Amino acid sequence: MNSEIERRRTFAIIAHPDAGKTSLTEKLLLFGGQIQVAGAVKSNKIKKTATSDWMDIEKQRGISVTTSVMEFDYNDYKINILDTPGHQDFAEDTYRTLTAVDSVIIVVDGAKGVETQTRKLMEVCRMRNTPVIIFVNKMDREAKDPFDLLDELEEELVIHVRPLTWPIESGPRFKGVYNLYEHKLNLFQPSKQVVTEKVEVDINTEELDNQIGAPLAEKLRGELELIDGVYPEFNVDEYLKGEMAPVFFGSALNNFGVQELLDTFVEIAPSPRPTKTEEREVEPDESKFTGFVFKITANIDPNHRSCIAFCKICSGKFSRNTPYYHVRHEKTMRFSSPTQFMAQRKTTVDEAWAGDIIGLPDNGTFKIGDTLTEGEKLHFRGIPSFSPEMFKYIENADPMKQKQLAKGIDQLMDEGVAQLFVNQFNGRKIIGTVGQLQFEVIQYRLENEYNAKCRWEPISLYKACWVESDDPEELEAFKKRKYQYMAKDREGRDVFLADSNYVLQMAQMDFKHIRFHFTSEF
Ligand code: GDP
Repeated sequence: MNSEIERRRTFAIIAHPDAGKTSLTEKLLLFGGQIQVAGAVKSNKIKKTATSDWMDIEKQRGISVTTSVMEFDYNDYKINILDTPGHQDFAEDTYRTLTAVDSVIIVVDGAKGVETQTRKLMEVCRMRNTPVIIFVNKMDREAKDPFDLLDELEEELVIHVRPLTWPIESGPRFKGVYNLYEHKLNLFQPSKQVVTEKVEVDINTEELDNQIGAPLAEKLRGELELIDGVYPEFNVDEYLKGEMAPVFFGSALNNFGVQELLDTFVEIAPSPRPTKTEEREVEPDESKFTGFVFKITANIDPNHRSCIAFCKICSGKFSRNTPYYHVRHEKTMRFSSPTQFMAQRKTTVDEAWAGDIIGLPDNGTFKIGDTLTEGEKLHFRGIPSFSPEMFKYIENADPMKQKQLAKGIDQLMDEGVAQLFVNQFNGRKIIGTVGQLQFEVIQYRLENEYNAKCRWEPISLYKACWVESDDPEELEAFKKRKYQYMAKDREGRDVFLADSNYVLQMAQMDFKHIRFHFTSEF
């Protein structure tokens, strides 16, 4: 069992849209032999243009189902790539996916540097000390100066960086990368498939001048000297603690610099790490199976309203048709058709190990965060809900379909599509999201999957935050004072609906012993 678990690498590629996540994923799958040609991996980006209708979104959601997990073997390693939605309105989904990975690769556009989504996603990685490798992409286009880029990465992502390859120019003058640990020169030949030959070069000989020309050779020698002077040696332990990120340069589209990335990745990236539960820490090599659901995706086929619950195996071995304990339902269940994912194919899986992701057919039995075990009552921690940024009242638009609406809302919230709060003052239901698109998805899915109609009504809110206090009297006083603005989330926790930043700050000042939380995992 140990060797099965140790050879697993479960990670996500994160990037700001358009940085090259899809292109990189595809090249990694090429190395794994999972696909034969470039262009086979579809982007799961939801492009919202004037022409895109809802079937488009449905189709695109479908793509993100099949590409949710991609697994392949490379050398002796079993690699699981977890895909994350590109559209920022689905950022919550990405945050949750990050709770199921053991490391990440961040793709940065060499011309644009660190962008908003990169920054936000990195914050989530930092919360969990997730080890990070950075790939600076699109070096075949005019890019920023690499030293400036490294400074930017270090500052904006708040992590130490250490280049492991170094670019020689960029754009039309791009010559390739120098591998700083193998001391080899990798010359760039634009091609979408071929893995380029590396040349071993002693940088202090004329050979380098012959390869890239004397002026560039001189410049490279100077830069390499500077790198050794400025950046500390790469240290795997610091990387594993999430304190230092090795940096690679290349071009995903041209499959250039990707193999260096992959080879280093499999070598240094962690195998499945221990997972925290409320009760204890679960070690991956424990003999008994445990796992938790981090993502639920509705089936693309509108005739089958079934969902797939994605379960990360945290310890032991999962076997098909074996009874497992669903902790929240206090019920034993077995799964006859769990699935695993290979590029575009889904296959039934007989057994899977810690680190793997399995898809379990779901008809409303699962909720994000649900735990499966062999009987132990465990509750996995670390699936945060972020305080939403957009709010609307949800109202029933068809009095005959009250029940359908309630059921639909319930299941969509279980899936983690958005968050529901009930205002304690007027009993109205408020949906909170991180983006406008989610409201549209909810409305569409309520109609198409639950045959229910909803109507949105505006509510002007700045933020919803969870409130807690060790001083019950103060909490009561607070709730009394703010009674019009108090709500409960689905777990029955107290939520304060602040209508402006000013109101929130005043509340924080007036009620010193109340803790205001902006994520719900506390
Ligand atoms: P994603 O949104 O992060 O998944 O990005 P994609 O992989 O879909 O890439 C976005 C665009 O950038 C596409 O048009 C790609 O062809 C292009 N692209 C990706 N990698 C490179 C690269 O290395 N060089 C160049 N010139 N273009 C690239």
